[in-house]
Amino acid sequence: MKTSHASKPGGWIHWHNPEFPLRLGVSACLLGEKVRFDTGHARDRFVTDTLGQWFEFVPVCPEVEIGMGIPRPTIRLVKAEHGLRLVAPSTGEDFGETMTTFSEQRVNGLMAEDLDGFILKKGSPSCGMERVKVYHPNGMPTSAKAAGLFASALQRKWPTLPIEEDGRLHDKVLRENFIERVFCRNRWRLFAAQGSGRGGLVEFHTAHKLLIRAHNEAAYRRLGRIVASAGQLPDAELFSSYEREFQSAMKSKGTVKRHVNVLHHAMGYLKKKLDSVEKQELLTCIEDYRQGLLPLIVPLSLLRYNIRRHQISYLAGQLYFDPHPKELMLRNHA
Ligand code: SF4
Repeated sequence: MKTSHASKPGGWIHWHNPEFPLRLGVSACLLGEKVRFDTGHARDRFVTDTLGQWFEFVPVCPEVEIGMGIPRPTIRLVKAEHGLRLVAPSTGEDFGETMTTFSEQRVNGLMAEDLDGFILKKGSPSCGMERVKVYHPNGMPTSAKAAGLFASALQRKWPTLPIEEDGRLHDKVLRENFIERVFCRNRWRLFAAQGSGRGGLVEFHTAHKLLIRAHNEAAYRRLGRIVASAGQLPDAELFSSYEREFQSAMKSKGTVKRHVNVLHHAMGYLKKKLDSVEKQELLTCIEDYRQGLLPLIVPLSLLRYNIRRHQISYLAGQLYFDPHPKELMLRNHA
């Protein structure tokens, strides 16, 4: 499986190895599995029909996996003196301790088989990533919101894992951000498995430079310092600091302003190659994107065309221009 990264072109496909598939954990009901309390499902077409073409799924239904059965009574988060309980109001039974113990073990198992991300079901007292309703013991809602118990263990034990929930994935910016992080994580897993060493780390970082800058300029500088100090750190420390900082940088949203900065920066490499009309065309295109008149894909395509035409090898190696399959159409919205 080991491959050389020497002079690798910049597209995601050149950094992908089919023997290392993109793998997402998913709340099972989102995949159309009839595991909900009422024997129904909550199939999400974007997950099954679009992401399903590119990702392997690892389905998890915490409530079924702790033996609650299908159908089962509804449950809710209930405020307790120390933390939260997971109570079925119809019977008063508390599943909190069972769910907490299960979640710790299940997350350990998932970490051992490794994933590139997780998509959780919004609003569930087990799977909800955030803002799940919390009740008083007397049945009245509190003003507090929390994560579901499984989701809470997942986020606490695995902070570098990209995690989203189905509702938030309908927001185009959050969706692109999540998928971009998932592809980054998959590339990092492959890189780590290949044992490409310090030279490989320099190459990995170089290919991701513009992508990182589009998310977090300060983290980009910190990552540069980590790579520059490669000779002074033991391998394990070097790679774990890089991974931590890299994943946390990619958590920041790629905003329009950040993309505009990166597009202008990339244009700087072409300034001696383009005539004034071509420069103006590119500048207008970037400005139209900034104003929301064009989607990101338009200035990117124009830049890509010029990079190919003038063979600017540094830019040709940048994953920023092609970080995930174009069929996902993540950069096609204005
Ligand atoms: S939200 Fe989670 S616990 Fe509820 S049915 Fe879906 S997978 Fe199962």
